[in-house]
This record gives sequence, structure tokens and C-alpha cells, in this order.
Amino acid sequence: ARLKEGLTKTRQGITARVDQVLKSYKKVDEELLEEIEEILITADVGVNTTMEIIGKLRNQAKERKITEVENLRGLLKEILADTLDLNKSHELNIQPLPAIILVVGVNGVGKTTSIGKIAHRMRSQGKKVLLAAGDTFRAAAIDQLEIWGNRVGVDVIKHQEGSDPAAVVFDAIQAAKARKIDVLICDTAGRLHNKTNLMNELGKVRKVVEREYGEASKEILLVLDATTGQNAIQQAKIFKEAVDVSGIVLTKLDGTAKGGVVLGISSELDIPVKLIGVGEGMNDLQEFKPNDFVNALFG
Ligand code: GDP
Repeated sequence: ARLKEGLTKTRQGITARVDQVLKSYKKVDEELLEEIEEILITADVGVNTTMEIIGKLRNQAKERKITEVENLRGLLKEILADTLDLNKSHELNIQPLPAIILVVGVNGVGKTTSIGKIAHRMRSQGKKVLLAAGDTFRAAAIDQLEIWGNRVGVDVIKHQEGSDPAAVVFDAIQAAKARKIDVLICDTAGRLHNKTNLMNELGKVRKVVEREYGEASKEILLVLDATTGQNAIQQAKIFKEAVDVSGIVLTKLDGTAKGGVVLGISSELDIPVKLIGVGEGMNDLQEFKPNDFVNALFG
């Protein structure tokens, strides 16, 4: 129910409009498919992904001899669920413990908030969590992370503004070992002024992780803001070149009718969406499950 509520705007943007169109047609025909195509494109699914979805809808409707409009809804739902499921695990890779999660993404996407929410989730599962303030470029980023640390009851390892992010991560790893931490979550710098810079900074952090904490389970989560629509996909392509992104956290799904971007991300990037943000509170982060998502959208 929480997910359905969080997807209210996307439900208005996709489901309500699809239902309206379906109501106004008597038979499944090319014109109807075109109308659905337009709805998906407007909801930021992306042109390529939309074309693929419509192609499948056309072929499978023909194959299964679906001519009644009311049966098309179920078929569309099935195809969307397939598009979201990459046959890769959507679960966080944090087993066996200890684990380290590097969180990357540009400023403003909801990186700090997501780190706080993940920390809260892990703590509720009884895990010992530590945060590392690896975004040393902005004093505000360090402060914000501390606020979240206090809120969810988790310590934050930090250095001064302007210090070396790799040094912060180094210290955090030593602290994690000494305190027998289960999950260490590291913030990283969110400046994206050029790719070389990003690669250098994240590369250095990665080296420290490999050298100091090679035995830990690893996850590199890229945080993307759903309200930026197709832009999020462009950002993901840049990060993907710089670092081995293992999962995506898609934030602010509650604030946008562009929730269709999750379809574009899933089909274009070959990186599983693992978590979705549906609000600003510490409980507003959910595991991404393709079927649940589609059911919340069409239920
Ligand atoms: P950062 O610069 O990437 O660390 O971004 P922040 O974590 O500071 O978040 C930027 C803004 O987005 C804040 O006002 C957050 O409350 C808000 N935000 C983050 N995630 C979500 C979400 O899932 N839903 C909504 N509605 N707001 C969010």
C-alpha cells in the first residue's frame, strides 16, 4: 500500500491514462498501440524502451490472438514486469558479512538521505552499521550525514572538509574492523565536472577498499533521481564507465509522474535497480521487486 501511494503520480501518468485510452477503443488495433506508445514516452520510459515494449505488445497480442481491449491491459502489465526484470538479483549483495557499500551519485539526487535510510534499514535488521563521510568537498555533506547518523543511531567517521576521501574511507575501514561492524556505508563526492576527475577519485577509494577490506562483500550503489527522467540515464552511463556500479537506488519516485524512467533504466543499463525512494522519511526506502512494482502501478 505504501508503494502504491508512493507511485500515485506515476499511476496518474501511466495507468490512469492507459485505462482511459483502453476504454475508448473497441478492438486492439495499431491506433490504440500508438496511443499507448505516446503515454509511455510522456512518462519518461524513453524512446528505445518504449519501442521495444510496443513491439512486444504488438507481437504477443497477435500470437495470443488478443483482440479484446480488456485483455491488453494484462498483457501490457506482463511485458512491463519482464522489462523490469533483468534476471539479475535485485537484492543488496551484503552477504557474507562484513560488507561495504559505496554510494555514488551527483549532488542533490538524494544520496545522503538514501544512506541514512539504508543505515536505518540495516540497523532494524539487527546489523552493526558505520557511516563514512567520503564526500569531503562540501562541509554541508558531512554535516548532513551526521544529522542522519544521529537520527538513526549510527556513528559517522569524518575528516575535515577538503581532506582526501580515500583517507576517510581508510580510517572508516580500520574503525569497522576494530568495532566488528557488519555494514560500512561510504558516501563519496558528488561533483561530476568531468569524467577523468570522477574516475580518479572513485578509483582511489576503490583501491583502498580492495587493499584494506578485500574480504568484505561489496556493493557500489548509484543513486539516481527519478524526477530528472531521461537525464538520470545519461548520468548512469557516465558513472558506469568510471566505476563498477552494482545496483541503482532510484529516489523521489513519490514526487514524479516520470516513474516510467525505471523501465528505461532497467532495459538500457544492464544494472539492476535495487532500492527505491518513495518519500523523505527514514522508512521511505523499499526493496525493488519488479512484480510488486508493476502490481502497485496497475493494481
Ligand atoms: P544529496 O545531495 O544527493 O546528498 O541529496 P540529499 O540526500 O540531501 O537529498 C536532497 C533532497 O531530496 C532532500 O530534500 C531530501 O529530503 C530529498 N529526497 C531524497 N530522497 C527522496 C525521496 O525518495 N522522496 C522525496 N520526496 N524526497 C527525497
